[in-house]
Amino acid sequence: MTTSYIGRFAPSPSGPLHFGSLIAAVGSYLRARAQGGQWLVRIEDIDPPREVAGASDRILRTLEAHGLHWDGELMYQSHRSARYDEILEQLSQEALCYPCSCTRKRVQSLGGVYDGHCRLHGPESDQVALRLHNSAAVSRFDDALLGPIVTDVYFAEEDFILKRRDGLYAYQLAVVVDDHDQGITEVVRGNDLLEATVRQLTLFSQLGWQAPTYLHLPLAVWTDGHKLSKQNHAPALDDSQPTANLLLALRFLGQPIEPDWAELSPEAVLSAAVQQFELTRIPRERHLLAPF
Ligand code: GLU
Ligand code: ZN
Repeated sequence: MTTSYIGRFAPSPSGPLHFGSLIAAVGSYLRARAQGGQWLVRIEDIDPPREVAGASDRILRTLEAHGLHWDGELMYQSHRSARYDEILEQLSQEALCYPCSCTRKRVQSLGGVYDGHCRLHGPESDQVALRLHNSAAVSRFDDALLGPIVTDVYFAEEDFILKRRDGLYAYQLAVVVDDHDQGITEVVRGNDLLEATVRQLTLFSQLGWQAPTYLHLPLAVWTDGHKLSKQNHAPALDDSQPTANLLLALRFLGQPIEPDWAELSPEAVLSAAVQQFELTRIPRERHLLAPF
């Protein structure tokens, strides 16, 4: 079976992969392969201050060790500045983006949602961020797993940042331009990004591009309620036991596992899991993990 499904996994090289990121990698991989689709990998290295030296290569080695082989060329966001600038230029020609000199402190004093001040009055200095003139706000969407998702309208209507005052491109801009340029038909990722999705849908609509569908996976959360992240020292995946890691990830995703899979190579586990993959078995709730 071949379809035009194109999925992706888009890690940020702010540290090695941990169990939480393996869920997103395996979930997006199974969903793509179960539909005979492609699975791309994109390194989201647009934030050098948060990048850890060597993390990109280590992430790629970990994916390979786990049998998660991607299709086509890797994409690195750090190589894409010219394209992001081109889109910013286009938005600015259409008066859909404007310079803003407001400080984070000012935005916080407004309750955290920007009020469009510089769109109405112009910036007060030349130290500026670029913001979207948001005229296509999307505040709801249908998640392929979770069903209808509704977010706060004020949040959805915010003129959010496309390029930061320090010159770095905003994640929302880069991810939309890349998902579009790579022809991604569905984004599968953790449900910590539900709010990002309404931003991204807004940007797709503002750019007149067809948006992908979105599917948000349950988040692995420590029993104290915090999500597993590099910041709270989720342990790096151990590349020497990929099959065991994959079985844990499959269990987390509610997928059936046969007892003899523990003896298989990671590639064989994945191909068996693709055969048996069922979207409806993925739990919709949060999952608590005791620290390991
Ligand atoms: N790079 C983001 C992260 O590692 C994921 C972005 C995405 O999947 O859209 O959290
Ligand atoms: Zn402003």
